[in-house]
Amino acid sequence: MERTCPLCNGFINDSPPCPTCQGNMENQGRLVDFMGDYIAYLDYEGTKLIDHDPDSLESHTCVHLFYCPECEATNNVSVKEMIR
Ligand SMILES: [Zn+2]
Ligand SMILES: [Zn+2]
Repeated sequence: MERTCPLCNGFINDSPPCPTCQGNMENQGRLVDFMGDYIAYLDYEGTKLIDHDPDSLESHTCVHLFYCPECEATNNVSVKEMIR
């Protein structure tokens, strides 16, 4: 039994509305991958985001980072993984 994130695999292309301007947010990929690249540049408030969803392994969710090009807001969204 294998669990896979539908968003990582392109099965769905959902993006939540921006909480600030209701515009379309862009999927920036998995939060952990994003943080891996940029963690060196983040301050303490930023690094706290890594613990945003400490249960992600147990609950089988994949946390994605979304970015709004309109107002530059970011949003973390937990995507439930599928069993295939
Ligand atoms: Zn994913
Ligand atoms: Zn926005």
